[in-house]
Parts: sequence; structure tokens; C-alpha cells
Amino acid sequence: MDLSLDYAKKMDENDSLYSFREEFHLQSGVLYMDGNSLGLMSRRAEAKTLELMESWKTLGINGWTSGTHAWYYLSEHIGQQMAGITGALPHEVIATGSTTVNLHQLLASFYKPEGRKTKIIADALTFPSDIYAIQSQIEQKGLTAADQLLQIESRDGFMLEEDDIIAAMTEETAVAILPGVLYRSGQVLDMQRITEAARKNDIIIGWDLSHSAGAVPHQLHDWGADFAFWCTYKHLNGGPGSVGALFVHEKHSGRMPGLAGWFGSAKEKQFDMDHTMTPASDAGAFQIGTPHVLSLAPLLGSLEITEEAGIQAIRKKSLQLTDYMTSLIEEKLAEHGFTIVSPVEHHRRGAHLFIEHPAAAGICKALKNEGVVPDFRMPNGIRLAPVALYTSFEDVWHTIVILENIMKTEAYKQYDNTRDIVS
Ligand SMILES: *Cc1c(COP(=O)(O)O)cnc(C)c1O
Repeated sequence: MDLSLDYAKKMDENDSLYSFREEFHLQSGVLYMDGNSLGLMSRRAEAKTLELMESWKTLGINGWTSGTHAWYYLSEHIGQQMAGITGALPHEVIATGSTTVNLHQLLASFYKPEGRKTKIIADALTFPSDIYAIQSQIEQKGLTAADQLLQIESRDGFMLEEDDIIAAMTEETAVAILPGVLYRSGQVLDMQRITEAARKNDIIIGWDLSHSAGAVPHQLHDWGADFAFWCTYKHLNGGPGSVGALFVHEKHSGRMPGLAGWFGSAKEKQFDMDHTMTPASDAGAFQIGTPHVLSLAPLLGSLEITEEAGIQAIRKKSLQLTDYMTSLIEEKLAEHGFTIVSPVEHHRRGAHLFIEHPAAAGICKALKNEGVVPDFRMPNGIRLAPVALYTSFEDVWHTIVILENIMKTEAYKQYDNTRDIVS
């Protein structure tokens, strides 16, 4: 494979998504490889935020029902934008809450331990917040988390085997909560296969799509997943703390939310102020209180970009970027002690690469000093995320050449090999 800078430039010239790069606030001298933690701000997200600020300024309370983006319907509207990206029907997705809060809501709604069917399956590699939420929901039911939560172990510490997950499903399993893409190794799970197995075993299955929404295509409706939830500040570029999302399959329409609140009401009933709730008949029922309008605003712009680019085209370029980055790492860093942990096969690889090195923390600090923004994961991992919407092949080339120089000159040894508080 030709890995030269010329090759990278040629790839950029032929890249049908290249123009989207202009839409983002890229900082000069910075190679941003951390879009899987916090996506960058686009001009459209910025403009929509200012537009909603203006509607507050000029309309006051009337902004709920008038103006270009009446706030009362904003969560539903943005949910519909995300439905296309995740393979859901428009009324199956709502923008609300945050990843962790949505998991609490969905477990409160769908985890109904009964008889011997009381256990929840999760995995040993998942993001800690998901585990905390699951444990506390089990305890809320008067059960003991240590007895009821089964975490599927990884064979190698990085990857999960679908076979192991499916083999663990028994008649005692009530719910399974799994990630679409693992946050460390970036492995994509075979969501369709696992969902089918769950359905066969009469298990409620919920997917955490935080690392896959906006990066990998999904067919949530057709797969028949019961529910899903995700954040919007990673690959969906909604900004720090942007409002999260949840999907509930229409087969569950009419179900009472476990954590009820007035914004879960049928829209036309909400202002009746009745003390008996009439829940919305769709995913909207799982909202709780007043939407965080100013944290929804950027999504109006950022999701428009994702929709225009198309999730299939984003996925295609993303794989090309991580392929190219992998080849460069193999060629230029071969003698410097890195291990690429992320899966090689396209169908198992998400949108970032996870590489390991004993001096990872120091290397990340040296990279930041050279204008590359990576992210460090304890104890010795570096995540690099070239993002289809705004990273060029040339950016990837420069990133790995900078890393090569840091290794050759041993510049990383000037930094202590410990983590920063947020990293
Ligand atoms: C990013 C992420 C979260 C974050 O949860 P918040 O409630 O948005 O803070 C949770 N789970 C996974 C798998 C994530 O990747």
C-alpha cells in the first residue's frame, strides 16, 4: 500500500465528504483525534444555538409554541432526525436526558424481575456508568446486584465474543444491556445476531449506542431491539452535555414509563394538568421534565450535517481513515513498541483505533504539546479517532508522522507517565 503524503492528498481529492470539513471550527495547528469523546463544533450547530438564544430573547414564553423551532416539539423533532441515522421509525426516538439517566429510565420501565427471571446481562468491558446504573436499578427492586448482574468476561481483555454473550442467556435472564461499540477497543458487536438471540430467549435487549450513533449504521427497528440509548456529544457533535437520546421499539407503545413526569404525557393532554397521566403513545413517553432547550439547540445543526452526509458514506470513509492510520502505524511505528488493539476486520471495527504502549500517558502529553489531541485511557491506552466528517487523510498522515518523531527523539520521556485528572 502506498502510504505517502501524496497518497493522502489524492484520497482527500477523491473524498466526497471533504467539503463537510469546511463546516467545522477546526483550529489551525491542531490535529483533533478525539471526536469520539467530544465532537467538534460545526458552524450550523453554532448558528442554531444562536437562533434559539434569539427566540428566548425575542419571544419569551411564546417560544414554546412559536418561532422556527417551537421548543415544545423540539425533542420530538430532533428524535426524528436521529431516527433516520439509527434505523428507527420517526416516533421511536426521542431526544431527552443523558445516557446514564436514560438507562435508569429504561431499566425502571423494562426491568420487571419475576419468579426466576431476574438477572441482567452486561459485559465486563463496558463504561462504568452503565454498570453503576444497572446495579442501582437492581437494588431499587429490593434485590442484590452481586447476585443478579452477570458481566460477560472478555477472553483477551479487549474484545467480546458474541458466542459467549449468547451462551450466557438463560431463562433466568430478564434483560441484557450491551454496547454497540466498545469504548476502549472500538469493537462493534454483532447487534443483529445478539438481538435475535435475546428475542428467542424472551429477553429484553437494550443497546448503548454512545460510541456507534453517528459512526456506524444501525437497523434498530428491523432488528427488533427493545430499546437503545446514546449520547449526542461524541460522533453526533452536539457539544458538551448536549441532550441524549433513547429509542423504544413501537411494539412497546403504550407502556407506562418507570420514571414518570409531565413531559412524558401525550402532547395534547399535557396541559390539561390532570393528576392521572396519559403517557405519549411513542418514545416521547419516556421524557421526564422540561427539555433542556439550549442543550438541544446545537443538535438541530449538527444532525442536519450527519443526515446530509449520510451514515453509509460516513461509515465508508471512517473505515478508510482507520485502515490508513493502521497501515501508517504498522509501517512507521513498528520498532516503537505499540500494539494495535482494535479489530482488523471491518465488520468488527468501530470509528476509532485503540493502541497500547507502556508509556502511553507520557506519549499523550507529548502529542498534545505537538498539537495532536488524542485521548488517554488507563493504564496504557491511546485512542485516536479520525472523524469522517472533519478529519482528512492528510491529518492522519501528519498525526502518525508526529507520533513517529516523538518516539524517535524520545520526546515523551520529558513528561511523567501519569494521567491528568480528566483524560
Ligand atoms: C460516553 C458514554 C457514557 C456517558 O454517559 P453520560 O450519562 O452521557 O455521562 C455512557 N456509556 C457509554 C458506553 C459511553 O460511551
